Amino acid sequence: MTDEQSASLQVWRYLAMEKMPYMAGLLFSLRVLDAPGLGTLAVDAGLRLYIDFDAIADRSDDERAQMLLHEVGHLFADHHLLAEELGVDQRTKGRAINVSADASLNDDLRDAGCEIFADDGGFILPSVLGEPDYKTPHHYYRSLTDDDEGQDGGDGGDGGEYTGCGSGSGSEPAPCELGDDDAGGTAPAASRVQVEVAGAIIEHAKNRGRVPAGLAERTEQILAPSTTPWQKILASMVRRGAASRAGTLDVDTSRRSRRRHDARLGGTGRRLVVPGMHTPVPRVALVRDTSGSMSAGDLNAVTNEVEAISQRVGIRGMDLRVIDVDADVAAERGYRRASDLAVRHGGGGTDMRVGIDAALQVRPRPSVVVVATDGYTPWPEEPVGVALVCVIVGTDDQRPRAISTAPSWAKVVEVATS
Ligand SMILES: [Zn+2]
Repeated sequence: MTDEQSASLQVWRYLAMEKMPYMAGLLFSLRVLDAPGLGTLAVDAGLRLYIDFDAIADRSDDERAQMLLHEVGHLFADHHLLAEELGVDQRTKGRAINVSADASLNDDLRDAGCEIFADDGGFILPSVLGEPDYKTPHHYYRSLTDDDEGQDGGDGGDGGEYTGCGSGSGSEPAPCELGDDDAGGTAPAASRVQVEVAGAIIEHAKNRGRVPAGLAERTEQILAPSTTPWQKILASMVRRGAASRAGTLDVDTSRRSRRRHDARLGGTGRRLVVPGMHTPVPRVALVRDTSGSMSAGDLNAVTNEVEAISQRVGIRGMDLRVIDVDADVAAERGYRRASDLAVRHGGGGTDMRVGIDAALQVRPRPSVVVVATDGYTPWPEEPVGVALVCVIVGTDDQRPRAISTAPSWAKVVEVATS
């Protein structure tokens, strides 16, 4: 950026903060790059904002402030995950994803006092799509793609001008994006800044009141209160499990060792295939107690822990199975997002041993079984052959008794609920 561009940006950022002061953390964390020829603004998940300063020269400062808010809106909502969540190829549906993400955040911007200019190059509101406000991008995407199948060329993939908001909006990356080149890592991890913004939103709500509905919801998702160091716990459990199995169950026969075995040394005359070593990525089967004694608060706490495992360890889908169990297995699925756990299957009596048995049947075999329960359950007498973590949820009064009955050979994690 030139000094002049940098000075302009300060003005836009100031105006943006007047409208949405809680976005300050993201606005100040952006690593802004001049992107001549881009034709617009774009963000990526690394908090980089690409601005074609010439292309937006005709806009007023206030409009450009709103454009900044729009771009950080994509970042706060983690729209870069959309293509994966929607299960579509962003090269063919990138435009539809981008429009859906835009519609889902522009109604909040309007509620926060943005004027939402809708002229050429302006903001798309859900009404433009013939849809109501306050729906998810997933909703708008389905509505868009149900109407027209396969008519979307994506952004930039067809050689035309890039019209998206960058990979941070869920669409195909803008041509100017740096990708893995972090140029010294000057952009902090998005998650940390999102947490700061979420905290600022809470403060704003306390002091002055109004926060757009979509942002309030997102804030609750981000401020999941799990403080469990899952990365550390699971890594140590996986190591322990691997050591106790002495390489018998933990080898990967699909990989060959780089070490060449000379048949002459072995003297067998056969070609030996030695299983390769591999870095253990934990596969977690999580048994969720859905019996009647689990309160809504307990279940929320469990959801936050599952989400924390997913984020901190970087696993989801079939690597993080969630099995709902009361006294029987009621449901099983690969975890993708917190809303997957909104419905409680089960609700009867409690026997987590049934869930542990079910977890041990999962293939490929999990490296760790996590049981999340209020603890009013019988436990297996003997170690089950896989590392077991007992997550005991409950109030300060309830947990000690539950913990006293947990198996001595299992790792116990306490999660306080009110
Ligand atoms: Zn956008």
